[in-house]
Amino acid sequence: MRRVFALLLCAAVCAALALRREAAVPAQGPAEMTQVYAALTFDDGPHRSTTDRLLDGLRERGARATFFLVGEEIGANRDLVRRMEDEGHQVGNHTWGHRRLNDLTADEAAQEIGKTDALLTEILGPGSYWLRPPYGFLPKDGERLVSVPMVKWSVDPRDWESRDKDKVVQAVEEAIQPNSIVLLHDLYPSSVDAALELVDRLSAKGYRFVTVEELLRQNGVTPQAGTLYRSGNG
Ligand SMILES: [Zn+2]
Repeated sequence: MRRVFALLLCAAVCAALALRREAAVPAQGPAEMTQVYAALTFDDGPHRSTTDRLLDGLRERGARATFFLVGEEIGANRDLVRRMEDEGHQVGNHTWGHRRLNDLTADEAAQEIGKTDALLTEILGPGSYWLRPPYGFLPKDGERLVSVPMVKWSVDPRDWESRDKDKVVQAVEEAIQPNSIVLLHDLYPSSVDAALELVDRLSAKGYRFVTVEELLRQNGVTPQAGTLYRSGNG
């Protein structure tokens, strides 16, 4: 009888110890997931209604993005530009009239860039408004002409072409890697829907969305004037 009791006691102690060990191992959750970073960029806005909705969705999700604005579109949407900055997004320059800078003389290209830079400075104050050249074409003699860092992209789902939320989500999910810079356009409702769905889906996989400037700095890159960046690590 004593032996049975001893065995039972042993079994109870072992079970209690096993439970404690189990409890000491934390469940795998978002906090334990390795975090990686990427940047969503939006060109050709600001655009009333689609940009508003995108800003609302990014704010709800705690995600930051970079907006490359066309000067001609800014005038009627100054409130959206202020809101971008107030909510922690990076505001950049996508020229005044969205012309191919490589087709222009140096003076014309400087004007296309300078007019938008001046308007952003008027609205937001002095700052470094990085340039995304339309279509990714650099101005002739770009390094000398451009006094801010330039940004291209490493993931292009061609959202302007398909205007199909599911296709855009799929194309980005297949191509994105840590440090990617993703090209989107906030003119299209489908692109806004895709962007917000991507933030949800990729956040669950450990992605955090930051501005292009934050992405570069996290990689120890000091952004240089006149240099073109395609991803967070160069
Ligand atoms: Zn564009």
